[in-house]
Amino acid sequence: MNKNDNKDKPKKIKSNKFAWIIIIEIVVISLLFISYRYIILDVKDKENEQTQENPQENEDGKNTEDSDNQIDDENDNKNDDDEEAEVEEPQDQIDHEDVANKEDKEQQDLIAQANRLALGYDYDGAIELLKSYEGSNGDYTSYEKLKTAIEGFETTKSTLVLYGGSYTSVAQFSHIFFHSLIADNAKAFDEDYDSKGYNMYMTTVTEFKNMMQQLYDAGYVLVSMHDIAPIITKEDGTQVYGEGKIYLPEGKKPFVLSQDDVNYYDYMDGDGFASRIVIGEDGKPTCEMILEDGSKVNGDFDMVPILDKFVDEHPDFSYHGAKGILALTGYEGALGYRTDDPTSSTFEQDKEAVKAVAKALIEDGWEFACHTWGHKNMQEKPYEFVVRDTNRWLEEVAPLIGPTDILIFPYGIDIETTLGHYNSDKYTFLKKSGFNYYCGVYKDPWMQIKDDYVRMTRRPLDGQAMLQFPERLKDLFDLNTVIDPERPAKNW
Ligand SMILES: [Zn+2]
Repeated sequence: MNKNDNKDKPKKIKSNKFAWIIIIEIVVISLLFISYRYIILDVKDKENEQTQENPQENEDGKNTEDSDNQIDDENDNKNDDDEEAEVEEPQDQIDHEDVANKEDKEQQDLIAQANRLALGYDYDGAIELLKSYEGSNGDYTSYEKLKTAIEGFETTKSTLVLYGGSYTSVAQFSHIFFHSLIADNAKAFDEDYDSKGYNMYMTTVTEFKNMMQQLYDAGYVLVSMHDIAPIITKEDGTQVYGEGKIYLPEGKKPFVLSQDDVNYYDYMDGDGFASRIVIGEDGKPTCEMILEDGSKVNGDFDMVPILDKFVDEHPDFSYHGAKGILALTGYEGALGYRTDDPTSSTFEQDKEAVKAVAKALIEDGWEFACHTWGHKNMQEKPYEFVVRDTNRWLEEVAPLIGPTDILIFPYGIDIETTLGHYNSDKYTFLKKSGFNYYCGVYKDPWMQIKDDYVRMTRRPLDGQAMLQFPERLKDLFDLNTVIDPERPAKNW
Protein backbone atom coordinates (compact mmCIF):
# COMPACT_ATOMS: atom_id res chain seq x y z
CA MET A 1 0.00 0.00 0.00
CA ASN A 2 1.14 3.45 -0.99
CA LYS A 3 1.15 5.97 1.71
CA ASN A 4 0.20 8.78 -0.79
CA ASP A 5 -3.01 7.03 -1.93
CA ASN A 6 -4.23 7.02 1.51
CA LYS A 7 -3.50 10.69 1.83
CA ASP A 8 -5.15 11.91 -1.45
CA LYS A 9 -8.50 10.12 -1.47
CA PRO A 10 -9.89 11.46 1.80
CA LYS A 11 -8.83 14.99 0.77
CA LYS A 12 -11.28 15.02 -2.14
CA ILE A 13 -14.12 13.67 -0.03
CA LYS A 14 -13.30 16.22 2.66
CA SER A 15 -13.48 19.22 0.31
CA ASN A 16 -16.88 18.08 -1.05
CA LYS A 17 -18.19 17.56 2.45
CA PHE A 18 -16.85 20.93 3.52
CA ALA A 19 -18.78 22.74 0.78
CA TRP A 20 -22.04 21.06 1.90
CA ILE A 21 -21.44 21.91 5.50
CA ILE A 22 -20.95 25.58 4.59
CA ILE A 23 -24.23 25.63 2.64
CA ILE A 24 -26.19 23.92 5.41
CA GLU A 25 -24.70 26.22 7.97
CA ILE A 26 -25.65 29.33 5.99
CA VAL A 27 -29.22 28.05 5.81
CA VAL A 28 -29.34 27.20 9.49
CA ILE A 29 -27.84 30.53 10.54
CA SER A 30 -30.34 32.41 8.34
CA LEU A 31 -33.20 30.45 9.88
CA LEU A 32 -31.82 31.05 13.33
CA PHE A 33 -31.50 34.77 12.73
CA ILE A 34 -35.05 35.05 11.40
CA SER A 35 -36.59 33.09 14.24
CA TYR A 36 -34.48 34.95 16.81
CA ARG A 37 -35.77 38.31 15.51
CA TYR A 38 -39.29 36.98 15.72
CA ILE A 39 -38.85 35.85 19.32
CA ILE A 40 -37.18 39.06 20.45
CA LEU A 41 -40.05 41.12 19.07
CA ASP A 42 -42.60 38.78 20.58
CA VAL A 43 -40.96 38.73 24.00
CA LYS A 44 -40.63 42.49 24.00
CA ASP A 45 -44.34 42.79 23.26
CA LYS A 46 -45.10 40.45 26.12
CA GLU A 47 -42.75 42.28 28.42
CA ASN A 48 -44.53 45.54 27.70
CA GLU A 49 -47.87 43.90 28.38
CA GLN A 50 -46.66 42.47 31.68
CA THR A 51 -45.10 45.71 32.78
CA GLN A 52 -48.45 47.36 32.40
CA GLU A 53 -50.24 44.55 34.25
CA ASN A 54 -47.72 43.90 37.03
CA PRO A 55 -45.56 46.95 37.52
CA GLN A 56 -44.60 45.66 40.99
CA GLU A 57 -43.14 42.41 39.80
CA ASN A 58 -40.92 44.22 37.37
CA GLU A 59 -39.48 46.37 40.11
CA ASP A 60 -37.52 43.52 41.64
CA GLY A 61 -36.27 42.43 38.24
CA LYS A 62 -38.03 39.08 38.46
CA ASN A 63 -39.81 39.38 35.16
CA THR A 64 -36.75 40.49 33.23
CA GLU A 65 -34.91 37.44 34.49
CA ASP A 66 -37.73 35.13 33.44
CA SER A 67 -37.71 36.67 29.97
CA ASP A 68 -33.99 36.01 29.61
CA ASN A 69 -34.52 32.37 30.48
CA GLN A 70 -37.30 32.28 27.97
CA ILE A 71 -35.03 33.38 25.12
CA ASP A 72 -32.59 30.59 25.93
CA ASP A 73 -35.44 28.10 25.92
CA GLU A 74 -36.64 29.43 22.56
CA ASN A 75 -33.27 28.90 20.92
CA ASP A 76 -33.20 25.30 22.04
CA ASN A 77 -36.58 24.69 20.44
CA LYS A 78 -36.10 26.74 17.27
CA ASN A 79 -37.41 24.04 14.90
CA ASP A 80 -40.93 24.09 16.22
CA ASP A 81 -43.47 25.47 13.78
CA ASP A 82 -45.74 27.36 16.05
CA GLU A 83 -43.70 30.29 17.34
CA GLU A 84 -46.59 31.69 19.35
CA ALA A 85 -47.16 28.46 21.30
CA GLU A 86 -43.44 28.20 21.98
CA VAL A 87 -43.47 31.47 23.87
CA GLU A 88 -46.70 30.78 25.74
CA GLU A 89 -45.99 27.27 26.93
CA PRO A 90 -42.78 27.89 28.92
CA GLN A 91 -44.32 31.04 30.37
CA ASP A 92 -47.14 28.93 31.83
CA GLN A 93 -44.65 26.36 32.98
CA ILE A 94 -42.55 29.01 34.70
CA ASP A 95 -45.63 30.44 36.41
CA HIS A 96 -46.55 26.99 37.68
CA GLU A 97 -43.00 26.35 38.79
CA ASP A 98 -42.91 29.71 40.56
CA VAL A 99 -46.10 28.93 42.43
CA ALA A 100 -44.90 25.41 43.25
CA ASN A 101 -41.55 26.73 44.52
CA LYS A 102 -43.21 29.46 46.54
CA GLU A 103 -45.65 27.01 48.11
CA ASP A 104 -42.92 24.51 48.75
CA LYS A 105 -41.00 27.17 50.66
CA GLU A 106 -44.15 28.15 52.58
CA GLN A 107 -44.74 24.55 53.60
CA GLN A 108 -41.13 24.07 54.66
CA ASP A 109 -41.35 27.19 56.84
CA LEU A 110 -44.66 26.04 58.31
CA ILE A 111 -43.25 22.60 59.11
CA ALA A 112 -40.20 24.20 60.77
CA GLN A 113 -42.58 26.33 62.86
CA ALA A 114 -44.65 23.25 63.74
CA ASN A 115 -41.49 21.35 64.70
CA ARG A 116 -40.62 24.07 67.19
CA LEU A 117 -44.08 23.79 68.75
CA ALA A 118 -43.73 20.01 68.92
CA LEU A 119 -40.35 20.32 70.66
CA GLY A 120 -42.27 22.12 73.42
CA TYR A 121 -44.84 19.27 73.43
CA ASP A 122 -47.50 21.40 71.73
CA TYR A 123 -48.48 18.68 69.25
CA ASP A 124 -52.06 19.96 68.97
CA GLY A 125 -50.73 23.41 68.10
CA ALA A 126 -48.33 21.93 65.54
CA ILE A 127 -51.06 19.85 63.87
CA GLU A 128 -53.51 22.75 63.88
CA LEU A 129 -50.89 25.02 62.30
CA LEU A 130 -50.25 22.59 59.42
CA LYS A 131 -53.97 21.99 58.92
CA SER A 132 -54.51 25.72 58.48
CA TYR A 133 -52.51 25.71 55.24
CA GLU A 134 -54.25 26.70 52.02
CA GLY A 135 -52.38 26.45 48.71
CA SER A 136 -53.24 26.71 45.03
CA ASN A 137 -54.26 23.03 45.01
CA GLY A 138 -56.58 23.39 48.01
CA ASP A 139 -56.21 22.71 51.75
CA TYR A 140 -53.46 20.70 53.51
CA THR A 141 -54.90 17.36 52.29
CA SER A 142 -53.64 18.22 48.80
CA TYR A 143 -50.03 18.28 49.99
CA GLU A 144 -48.17 15.06 50.78
CA LYS A 145 -45.45 16.83 52.73
CA LEU A 146 -47.96 18.33 55.15
CA LYS A 147 -49.94 15.11 55.49
CA THR A 148 -46.75 13.17 56.33
CA ALA A 149 -45.71 15.76 58.93
CA ILE A 150 -49.18 15.70 60.54
CA GLU A 151 -49.13 11.89 60.68
CA GLY A 152 -45.71 12.06 62.35
CA PHE A 153 -46.98 14.47 65.01
CA GLU A 154 -50.08 12.37 65.60
CA THR A 155 -47.99 9.23 66.04
CA THR A 156 -45.67 10.91 68.56
CA LYS A 157 -48.63 12.49 70.37
CA SER A 158 -50.21 9.07 70.84
CA THR A 159 -47.10 7.92 72.77
CA LEU A 160 -47.36 10.73 75.37
CA VAL A 161 -48.56 9.94 78.88
CA LEU A 162 -50.29 12.02 81.54
CA TYR A 163 -47.69 13.93 83.61
CA GLY A 164 -44.98 11.91 81.87
CA GLY A 165 -46.12 8.93 83.96
CA SER A 166 -44.06 10.40 86.84
CA TYR A 167 -47.00 11.62 88.94
CA THR A 168 -50.63 10.73 89.48
CA SER A 169 -51.71 14.26 90.43
CA VAL A 170 -50.57 17.82 89.80
CA ALA A 171 -50.39 18.22 93.59
CA GLN A 172 -47.17 16.18 93.46
CA PHE A 173 -45.36 18.62 91.16
CA SER A 174 -42.51 20.63 92.63
CA HIS A 175 -42.65 24.40 92.51
CA ILE A 176 -39.15 25.70 93.18
CA PHE A 177 -38.15 29.30 93.76
CA PHE A 178 -35.14 31.59 93.96
CA HIS A 179 -34.28 35.18 94.77
CA SER A 180 -32.01 37.29 92.55
CA LEU A 181 -28.95 35.27 91.61
CA ILE A 182 -25.46 36.26 92.75
CA ALA A 183 -23.47 37.11 89.62
CA ASP A 184 -20.26 38.21 91.36
CA ASN A 185 -19.44 35.95 94.32
CA ALA A 186 -16.50 38.02 95.57
CA LYS A 187 -18.77 41.03 96.05
CA ALA A 188 -21.67 39.12 97.65
CA PHE A 189 -19.52 37.05 100.00
CA ASP A 190 -17.20 39.89 101.08
CA GLU A 191 -18.05 39.41 104.77
CA ASP A 192 -19.79 42.78 105.06
CA TYR A 193 -23.01 43.08 107.10
CA ASP A 194 -25.31 41.50 104.47
CA SER A 195 -23.08 38.69 103.18
CA LYS A 196 -24.52 36.29 105.77
CA GLY A 197 -28.03 36.99 104.46
CA TYR A 198 -26.88 36.36 100.90
CA ASN A 199 -25.35 33.05 101.97
CA MET A 200 -28.71 32.03 103.47
CA TYR A 201 -31.25 33.29 100.97
CA MET A 202 -29.48 33.59 97.64
CA THR A 203 -28.19 31.20 95.00
CA THR A 204 -25.23 31.88 92.73
CA VAL A 205 -25.34 31.92 88.93
CA THR A 206 -23.08 28.85 88.91
CA GLU A 207 -25.41 26.95 91.24
CA PHE A 208 -28.48 27.91 89.22
CA LYS A 209 -26.85 26.69 86.01
CA ASN A 210 -25.81 23.43 87.69
CA MET A 211 -29.35 22.93 88.98
CA MET A 212 -31.03 23.56 85.62
CA GLN A 213 -28.67 21.12 83.92
CA GLN A 214 -29.35 18.42 86.52
CA LEU A 215 -33.11 18.99 86.38
CA TYR A 216 -33.02 18.80 82.60
CA ASP A 217 -30.92 15.63 82.67
CA ALA A 218 -33.40 14.05 85.08
CA GLY A 219 -36.32 14.76 82.73
CA TYR A 220 -37.84 17.83 84.40
CA VAL A 221 -39.94 20.12 82.21
CA LEU A 222 -41.02 23.69 83.00
CA VAL A 223 -44.79 24.17 83.10
CA SER A 224 -47.04 27.14 83.86
CA MET A 225 -49.20 27.16 86.98
CA HIS A 226 -52.07 28.18 84.72
CA ASP A 227 -51.63 24.91 82.80
CA ILE A 228 -51.44 22.63 85.83
CA ALA A 229 -54.59 24.06 87.45
CA PRO A 230 -56.69 25.75 84.78
CA ILE A 231 -60.35 26.82 84.84
CA ILE A 232 -62.47 23.85 83.85
CA THR A 233 -66.07 24.05 82.68
CA LYS A 234 -68.21 21.40 84.37
CA GLU A 235 -71.09 19.58 82.67
CA ASP A 236 -73.62 21.93 84.25
CA GLY A 237 -71.71 24.89 82.78
CA THR A 238 -70.16 26.12 86.05
CA GLN A 239 -66.49 27.03 85.93
CA VAL A 240 -64.11 25.77 88.58
CA TYR A 241 -60.37 25.19 88.95
CA GLY A 242 -59.29 21.65 88.18
CA GLU A 243 -56.25 19.51 87.41
CA GLY A 244 -54.73 20.28 84.01
CA LYS A 245 -54.06 17.39 81.66
CA ILE A 246 -50.41 17.71 80.77
CA TYR A 247 -49.17 15.02 78.39
CA LEU A 248 -45.44 14.40 78.13
CA PRO A 249 -43.10 11.67 76.93
CA GLU A 250 -42.70 8.83 79.43
CA GLY A 251 -40.28 9.74 82.22
CA LYS A 252 -40.66 13.53 82.00
CA LYS A 253 -41.49 15.43 85.19
CA PRO A 254 -43.37 18.74 85.15
CA PHE A 255 -42.24 21.47 87.59
CA VAL A 256 -42.91 25.16 88.21
CA LEU A 257 -40.25 27.84 88.69
CA SER A 258 -40.50 31.28 90.24
CA GLN A 259 -38.27 34.12 91.36
CA ASP A 260 -39.14 36.51 94.16
CA ASP A 261 -38.38 40.22 94.57
CA VAL A 262 -37.26 40.86 91.00
CA ASN A 263 -36.92 44.52 91.99
CA TYR A 264 -33.13 44.84 92.33
CA TYR A 265 -33.39 46.70 95.64
CA ASP A 266 -31.02 49.49 96.65
CA TYR A 267 -29.47 47.37 99.42
CA MET A 268 -28.05 45.03 96.76
CA ASP A 269 -26.07 47.79 95.00
CA GLY A 270 -22.39 46.93 94.75
CA ASP A 271 -22.97 43.41 96.07
CA GLY A 272 -22.56 41.51 92.82
CA PHE A 273 -26.15 41.45 91.52
CA ALA A 274 -27.71 42.65 88.28
CA SER A 275 -29.08 46.19 88.49
CA ARG A 276 -32.13 45.75 86.27
CA ILE A 277 -33.69 43.88 83.37
CA VAL A 278 -33.30 45.60 80.01
CA ILE A 279 -34.00 44.75 76.39
CA GLY A 280 -30.87 43.55 74.62
CA GLU A 281 -29.76 44.30 71.08
CA ASP A 282 -31.61 41.18 69.87
CA GLY A 283 -34.89 42.51 71.29
CA LYS A 284 -34.87 39.91 74.06
CA PRO A 285 -34.76 40.62 77.79
CA THR A 286 -31.35 40.56 79.38
CA CYS A 287 -29.72 41.94 82.55
CA GLU A 288 -27.71 45.06 83.17
CA MET A 289 -24.96 45.22 85.74
CA ILE A 290 -23.03 48.24 87.02
CA LEU A 291 -19.30 47.69 87.20
CA GLU A 292 -16.92 49.13 89.75
CA ASP A 293 -16.01 52.11 87.53
CA GLY A 294 -19.70 52.95 87.09
CA SER A 295 -19.93 51.63 83.53
CA LYS A 296 -22.90 49.44 82.61
CA VAL A 297 -22.73 46.10 80.89
CA ASN A 298 -25.46 43.73 79.65
CA GLY A 299 -25.23 39.97 80.14
CA ASP A 300 -26.43 36.77 81.80
CA PHE A 301 -26.37 38.12 85.36
CA ASP A 302 -29.69 36.70 86.56
CA MET A 303 -32.30 34.02 85.98
CA VAL A 304 -34.13 35.52 82.98
CA PRO A 305 -31.35 35.56 80.37
CA ILE A 306 -29.72 32.39 81.77
CA LEU A 307 -32.92 30.35 81.56
CA ASP A 308 -33.85 31.86 78.19
CA LYS A 309 -30.54 30.72 76.76
CA PHE A 310 -30.91 27.26 78.33
CA VAL A 311 -34.40 26.79 76.86
CA ASP A 312 -33.19 28.02 73.46
CA GLU A 313 -30.59 25.26 73.58
CA HIS A 314 -32.99 22.70 75.12
CA PRO A 315 -36.51 23.50 73.84
CA ASP A 316 -37.77 20.23 75.36
CA PHE A 317 -37.14 21.74 78.82
CA SER A 318 -40.27 23.89 78.43
CA TYR A 319 -43.89 22.75 78.01
CA HIS A 320 -45.73 25.08 75.62
CA GLY A 321 -43.00 27.72 75.98
CA ALA A 322 -43.37 28.12 79.77
CA LYS A 323 -40.52 29.85 81.62
CA GLY A 324 -41.02 31.07 85.19
CA ILE A 325 -43.00 33.46 87.37
CA LEU A 326 -41.39 36.77 88.36
CA ALA A 327 -42.78 38.13 91.64
CA LEU A 328 -42.64 41.89 92.16
CA THR A 329 -43.17 44.16 95.14
CA GLY A 330 -43.79 47.88 94.61
CA TYR A 331 -41.95 49.86 97.29
CA GLU A 332 -38.84 50.29 95.15
CA GLY A 333 -40.46 50.16 91.74
CA ALA A 334 -40.20 47.16 89.44
CA LEU A 335 -37.50 45.19 87.60
CA GLY A 336 -34.78 47.61 88.75
CA TYR A 337 -36.56 50.84 87.73
CA ARG A 338 -37.59 53.20 90.54
CA THR A 339 -41.13 53.70 89.28
CA ASP A 340 -42.36 54.25 92.86
CA ASP A 341 -40.98 57.81 93.00
CA PRO A 342 -43.00 60.44 91.07
CA THR A 343 -40.38 63.09 91.90
CA SER A 344 -37.69 61.19 89.99
CA SER A 345 -36.50 63.02 86.86
CA THR A 346 -36.78 59.75 84.91
CA PHE A 347 -40.22 58.78 86.33
CA GLU A 348 -42.16 58.71 83.03
CA GLN A 349 -39.21 57.30 81.08
CA ASP A 350 -38.75 54.50 83.65
CA LYS A 351 -42.43 53.58 83.52
CA GLU A 352 -42.27 53.26 79.74
CA ALA A 353 -39.09 51.17 80.04
CA VAL A 354 -40.75 48.76 82.52
CA LYS A 355 -43.76 48.41 80.21
CA ALA A 356 -41.50 47.54 77.26
CA VAL A 357 -39.41 45.07 79.29
CA ALA A 358 -42.53 43.43 80.76
CA LYS A 359 -44.01 43.02 77.29
CA ALA A 360 -40.80 41.40 76.04
CA LEU A 361 -40.75 39.07 79.08
CA ILE A 362 -44.35 37.97 78.57
CA GLU A 363 -43.72 37.33 74.85
CA ASP A 364 -40.76 35.25 75.98
CA GLY A 365 -42.93 32.95 78.14
CA TRP A 366 -42.45 34.62 81.54
CA GLU A 367 -45.37 35.37 83.87
CA PHE A 368 -45.69 37.92 86.64
CA ALA A 369 -46.96 37.66 90.19
CA CYS A 370 -47.83 40.17 92.87
CA HIS A 371 -45.49 39.87 95.87
CA THR A 372 -47.49 42.62 97.70
CA TRP A 373 -46.47 46.28 97.59
CA GLY A 374 -44.62 46.57 100.91
CA HIS A 375 -43.38 42.98 101.49
CA LYS A 376 -45.06 42.56 104.87
CA ASN A 377 -46.34 39.47 106.71
CA MET A 378 -49.93 39.31 105.43
CA GLN A 379 -51.08 36.90 108.12
CA GLU A 380 -49.97 39.22 110.89
CA LYS A 381 -51.16 42.49 109.34
CA PRO A 382 -54.81 43.52 109.80
CA TYR A 383 -57.39 43.40 107.02
CA GLU A 384 -57.21 47.18 106.44
CA PHE A 385 -53.49 46.97 105.83
CA VAL A 386 -53.92 44.16 103.30
CA VAL A 387 -56.53 46.24 101.44
CA ARG A 388 -54.34 49.35 101.38
CA ASP A 389 -51.18 47.53 100.42
CA THR A 390 -52.85 45.46 97.69
CA ASN A 391 -54.57 48.50 96.17
CA ARG A 392 -51.29 50.34 96.05
CA TRP A 393 -49.66 47.44 94.17
CA LEU A 394 -52.62 47.31 91.77
CA GLU A 395 -52.33 51.06 91.14
CA GLU A 396 -48.56 51.36 90.84
CA VAL A 397 -47.23 48.05 89.53
CA ALA A 398 -50.06 46.26 87.69
CA PRO A 399 -50.47 49.01 85.04
CA LEU A 400 -46.79 48.57 84.10
CA ILE A 401 -46.66 44.78 83.82
CA GLY A 402 -50.27 43.95 82.95
CA PRO A 403 -52.83 42.00 84.93
CA THR A 404 -51.86 38.92 86.97
CA ASP A 405 -53.91 36.55 89.11
CA ILE A 406 -50.95 35.08 91.02
CA LEU A 407 -50.13 36.24 94.55
CA ILE A 408 -46.84 35.13 96.10
CA PHE A 409 -46.81 35.75 99.85
CA PRO A 410 -43.84 37.66 101.37
CA TYR A 411 -41.70 35.34 103.54
CA GLY A 412 -43.89 32.52 102.21
CA ILE A 413 -46.43 33.26 104.96
CA ASP A 414 -50.02 32.52 103.91
CA ILE A 415 -52.91 34.86 104.79
CA GLU A 416 -54.52 32.00 106.69
CA THR A 417 -53.40 28.88 108.54
CA THR A 418 -56.47 26.90 107.55
CA LEU A 419 -55.93 23.75 105.55
CA GLY A 420 -59.59 23.79 104.51
CA HIS A 421 -61.19 26.48 102.36
CA TYR A 422 -60.01 30.07 102.96
CA ASN A 423 -62.60 31.77 105.13
CA SER A 424 -61.27 35.25 105.92
CA ASP A 425 -62.18 38.77 104.77
CA LYS A 426 -58.63 39.00 103.45
CA TYR A 427 -59.31 36.17 101.03
CA THR A 428 -62.67 37.64 99.94
CA PHE A 429 -60.95 40.94 99.21
CA LEU A 430 -57.97 39.39 97.37
CA LYS A 431 -60.25 37.18 95.28
CA LYS A 432 -62.35 40.24 94.38
CA SER A 433 -59.10 42.02 93.43
CA GLY A 434 -58.40 39.33 90.81
CA PHE A 435 -56.11 36.85 92.59
CA ASN A 436 -56.79 33.15 91.95
CA TYR A 437 -53.40 31.48 92.61
CA TYR A 438 -51.83 31.80 96.09
CA CYS A 439 -48.28 30.67 96.82
CA GLY A 440 -46.65 30.05 100.19
CA VAL A 441 -43.47 28.14 101.04
CA TYR A 442 -43.06 24.58 102.28
CA LYS A 443 -40.30 21.98 102.15
CA ASP A 444 -42.34 19.43 100.16
CA PRO A 445 -44.69 19.79 97.19
CA TRP A 446 -48.19 20.75 98.36
CA MET A 447 -51.16 21.95 96.39
CA GLN A 448 -54.82 22.53 96.94
CA ILE A 449 -57.32 23.08 94.15
CA LYS A 450 -60.60 24.59 95.28
CA ASP A 451 -63.49 25.55 93.02
CA ASP A 452 -62.63 29.25 93.28
CA TYR A 453 -58.85 29.32 93.84
CA VAL A 454 -55.60 27.37 93.84
CA ARG A 455 -53.00 27.20 96.59
CA MET A 456 -49.52 25.88 95.85
CA THR A 457 -46.49 25.96 98.11
CA ARG A 458 -42.95 26.40 96.81
CA ARG A 459 -39.63 24.84 97.75
CA PRO A 460 -36.71 27.25 98.36
CA LEU A 461 -33.45 26.44 96.57
CA ASP A 462 -31.24 28.84 98.48
CA GLY A 463 -28.12 28.59 100.64
CA GLN A 464 -30.16 27.67 103.70
CA ALA A 465 -31.78 24.74 101.91
CA MET A 466 -28.45 23.58 100.47
CA LEU A 467 -26.31 23.96 103.62
CA GLN A 468 -28.81 23.48 106.46
CA PHE A 469 -31.41 21.09 105.01
CA PRO A 470 -29.62 19.23 102.21
CA GLU A 471 -31.78 16.11 102.75
CA ARG A 472 -34.80 18.12 101.56
CA LEU A 473 -33.30 18.49 98.10
CA LYS A 474 -32.18 14.89 97.64
CA ASP A 475 -34.96 14.11 95.16
CA LEU A 476 -33.90 17.01 92.94
CA PHE A 477 -30.11 17.18 92.84
CA ASP A 478 -26.77 15.77 93.75
CA LEU A 479 -25.79 18.78 95.88
CA ASN A 480 -22.09 17.88 95.78
CA THR A 481 -22.05 18.83 92.13
CA VAL A 482 -24.41 21.80 92.53
CA ILE A 483 -22.96 23.92 95.34
CA ASP A 484 -20.66 26.71 94.21
CA PRO A 485 -17.12 26.12 95.58
CA GLU A 486 -16.95 29.87 96.23
CA ARG A 487 -19.92 29.77 98.63
CA PRO A 488 -18.88 30.12 102.28
CA ALA A 489 -19.70 27.32 104.73
CA LYS A 490 -22.84 27.67 106.87
CA ASN A 491 -22.21 30.81 108.94
CA TRP A 492 -25.51 31.48 110.74
ZN1 LIG B 1 -39.80 38.24 98.99
